[in-house]
Amino acid sequence: MSEVVFRGGTIVTVDPAWRVLTGDVVCEGGRITQLGGEGTPRTRDYEILDATGCVVMPGFVQTHVHTCQTLARGHADDLALLDWLKKIIWPYEAALGPEDVAASARLACVELLRGGTTTIQDMGTVRHTDEIFAVAKAAGLRAVIGKAMMDVGDGVPAGLREDTRASLDEAAALCKTWHGAENDRLRYAYAPRFVLSCTEDLLRETVRAARAAGALMHTHASENRDELAAVRRDRGDDNVAYLHGLGMSGKDVGLAHCVWLTDRERGILRETGTQLLHCPSSNLKLASGIAQVPELMAEGVEVSLGADGAPCNNNLDAFVEMRLAALIHKPRVGPTGMQAAHVVRMATAGGARALGLGDEVGSLELGKRADVIAVEIDGAHVVPTESPYAALVYACRATDVRHVVVDGRVVVNQRALETLDAPRVISDAKARARRIFASL
Ligand SMILES: [Zn+2]
Repeated sequence: MSEVVFRGGTIVTVDPAWRVLTGDVVCEGGRITQLGGEGTPRTRDYEILDATGCVVMPGFVQTHVHTCQTLARGHADDLALLDWLKKIIWPYEAALGPEDVAASARLACVELLRGGTTTIQDMGTVRHTDEIFAVAKAAGLRAVIGKAMMDVGDGVPAGLREDTRASLDEAAALCKTWHGAENDRLRYAYAPRFVLSCTEDLLRETVRAARAAGALMHTHASENRDELAAVRRDRGDDNVAYLHGLGMSGKDVGLAHCVWLTDRERGILRETGTQLLHCPSSNLKLASGIAQVPELMAEGVEVSLGADGAPCNNNLDAFVEMRLAALIHKPRVGPTGMQAAHVVRMATAGGARALGLGDEVGSLELGKRADVIAVEIDGAHVVPTESPYAALVYACRATDVRHVVVDGRVVVNQRALETLDAPRVISDAKARARRIFASL
């Protein structure tokens, strides 16, 4: 379909001027060509999406997810990070074959796209990352994906432990194949898992290779106090400071969590423009703590949102993360410390900026790529809210998403996913998860 028209609705642009408009949004050739007023298709090849009673807005950008973990949803509850990894998640990931990784990624795509998430940054498992790219390609999701890199570590199963050189070579090959693929809808990000699973050599070489390729870096940092103590013991420095010393800081680096930071590390994030990837559900469920997000944002640190993996959430739902990002800080910083409009920006334009896609997606502006969603705000659980930001953050749910367009392609129409067979994806996921967990 070369033209798509969102007809009617309230247009929440999330542009720098915070414009809210009424009328139609027209997308042509994968770009936004009209905002507001009456949209008249210019060609005969068009589709009209009814958006009355909806907010029409940029799709959500989740900057930290693990689509390979979706089959472990509900299998790793009520554990703290290091036990969660060693007892369940790493053995699970080590047991995954290529078809399992694909099935897990498909299940994630069904949930993400139907819930209005149009872009993710994904940390895969160590192997079979081509499968995740292929699924994102077919599903129509915009994705920045990287294989997890792990060449050392206590409790890492043999099936995940890599040779340093082999890890770098595989990452480089994936980057070569996929970085910029599908009209730049797919990109590669180097993804060393976290300090405790990476040698210093691997981290140093990753910085060099990612910068040479123009790819992002994506890792976990300072999530949990036991992790922090182990990094100090093992590497002689605080987690973020240690990464900074190796060159892993800057606008091209995304650090998931950052719950526990020293004052010096807060300064490093601010001064280098390093991206903080906030995962409120995951931080609560793994009992990691609460990142000081409003305070860090006030200091100038850039923050975006992600659901992390299904086994530590247990959803991949942008609405849940927005709601928690707005609520969990208020008892500490007061009711105005994290306002709904800023949370919507964090979940859209903030995510796009974190992924180096700020000029392309994340807001509705003429000429930007058409990643556009329509969210119903006339449900009994939403009306009579006036502010579209308050509706989105405090009242709406993923099931309120009516239409989703990515790169000008309609992927969800009247709540129906058009790119994957959702019932089949769900039954395949259930059967595979049963087999995998029976074998562990
Ligand atoms: Zn994670």
